[in-house]
Amino acid sequence: MNTSLERKGQMMKPYERLLEHNIKPSMQRIAIMQYLMEHPIHPSADDIYTALSPSMPTLSKTTVYNTLKLFSEQGAAQMLTIDEKNTNFDADTSIHSHFLCKRCGHIYDLQCPEAVKRVESLEMDGHQVSEVHYYYKGICKNCLRKDKEIRID
Ligand SMILES: [Zn+2]
Ligand SMILES: [Zn+2]
Repeated sequence: MNTSLERKGQMMKPYERLLEHNIKPSMQRIAIMQYLMEHPIHPSADDIYTALSPSMPTLSKTTVYNTLKLFSEQGAAQMLTIDEKNTNFDADTSIHSHFLCKRCGHIYDLQCPEAVKRVESLEMDGHQVSEVHYYYKGICKNCLRKDKEIRID
């Protein structure tokens, strides 16, 4: 269904993925990376903390946030700033667009046109681009469908 998840790097185990990005694989880091890889729904640091803290009582919110920040600095995850209320994280580091539904808050993955992808390797006005983010906002198809159903009833 989601082809972007099958791309290179996505099938790797959390431990190997940390090593590949020069991150020392502690127990907590492995758990956080594993959660991120198994939940491609762009969770926030709070979401991950809430999910992991019952099984990891020594985990703190600060640790989760700092770990996620480290992942993004090392290129092991993407940090998304599409939602001004939350910072969200994505284990899929391939180039793809994101769509935020202003009504339900869900962040969807969208394919990115080839022409847009080519920009990444360009030097723009002498600057070297290493990250490109494409953010779209609006009302998602699920919320639109709900609107229609209400109108029919
Ligand atoms: Zn929605
Ligand atoms: Zn994504």
